[in-house]
Amino acid sequence: MTDCDVLVVGGGPVGLAAAVEARLAGLSAVVVEPRGTPVDKACGEGLMPGAVAALARLGVHPAGHPIAGFAYADARHRVQHRFRGPAGLGVRRTVLHAALAARAQEVGVEVLRARVGAVEEGLEPGAAQVRAAGVRARWLLACDGLHSTVRGLAGLSRPARGAARFGLRRHYRLSPWTDLVEVHWSHEAEVYVTPVAPDLVGVAVLGRRGALRSARGRGGGGGLEAVVDSVPALAGRLRGAVPDGPVRGAGPLRQRTRARSRGRVLLVGDASGYVDALTGEGLRVGLAQARSAVACLDAGAAPGAVGRAYERAWASGTREARLVTEALVAVATSPARGAVVPAAALAPPLFAGVVERLAR
Ligand SMILES: Cc1cc2nc3c(=O)[nH]c(=O)nc-3n(C[C@H](O)[C@H](O)[C@H](O)COP(=O)(O)OP(=O)(O)OC[C@H]3O[C@@H](n4cnc5c(N)ncnc54)[C@H](O)[C@@H]3O)c2cc1C
Repeated sequence: MTDCDVLVVGGGPVGLAAAVEARLAGLSAVVVEPRGTPVDKACGEGLMPGAVAALARLGVHPAGHPIAGFAYADARHRVQHRFRGPAGLGVRRTVLHAALAARAQEVGVEVLRARVGAVEEGLEPGAAQVRAAGVRARWLLACDGLHSTVRGLAGLSRPARGAARFGLRRHYRLSPWTDLVEVHWSHEAEVYVTPVAPDLVGVAVLGRRGALRSARGRGGGGGLEAVVDSVPALAGRLRGAVPDGPVRGAGPLRQRTRARSRGRVLLVGDASGYVDALTGEGLRVGLAQARSAVACLDAGAAPGAVGRAYERAWASGTREARLVTEALVAVATSPARGAVVPAAALAPPLFAGVVERLAR
């Protein structure tokens, strides 16, 4: 006898989406999350059109600012492309989280305020159930983010490889000047500008620790402000704008995994491995993984069969995003970095093709 069908560890966007998926599939679901609603996090907050559609399918319709496409810019070049199909959405993480939490409550998801520190059973190949945080379940979906505790407990983490990259994010109170996600390529970092509300703009910076660590810069924003100041076009826009809330950080971004399941535990979202935030696809990919994971939880199937089915779905569902992100990060961290925007500006159809791929 188990307490629920699906125990979801981590009530971020992917965990809540997985719990809603489970309920819509007729399964009982309990989410374990230590933080109160709404949870905030360092994020570029750009939902690609595919992510907006995935949320709508779950009955989640957060308020935000339409995103019509992407622009890449450096000091001398600019290229942009507008999505041919439906728009994306810039959404504050707190707004997204509140919308998902409300939908989870509506469909009968139970939320426990706790942090999982141990998986007491369920990691063995033939386990009949899984147990953590005092809850027994048939399946555990580990949606506990980049630094997943459950992934570590299950022995599924792999050592990091390559240069570590980090992200910082802050908001500014001003009317968005664009309906595009603008990516400004500075000498050492990428600066993402996302409109998230009629009077709010989010700025996220990605780069190596050294590029983000500078203590200089205005407004108490340390490295983030220093990077913004190094991009004159952006510094001019944000001059005088009032920062809204603190700078938040995340990283190292790259997280590698040995496999995506063990026993009755499946890794979902950032917990299942992450390359980088450079393409802004984390939420789209994580929502798709949540859907696949729940679809694989066949009532009668043994853990091994479910794990293999999820592994196949995870690999095929993430392959393209991983390859494109790996390739872009490789260039962004190489001496060829300075050629990214000029090359994109020289070949608008190529840039359009990449942006249309992100739109899915
Ligand atoms: C700087 C930056 C910019 C980004 N920009 C974008 C973007 O523009 N668009 C996009 O789609 N994606 C973007 N991403 C990626 C996106 O933020 C992530 O892919 C997304 O948050 C993953 O959701 P998640 O639910 O898997 O993990 P998280 O959002 O990290 O949620 C994990 C949850 O698990 C909880 N938790 C952690 N440990 C435990 C534990 N032991 N027990 C219980 N609960 C636990 C945490 O409290 C948290 O609520 C960006 C990421 C960064 C860092």
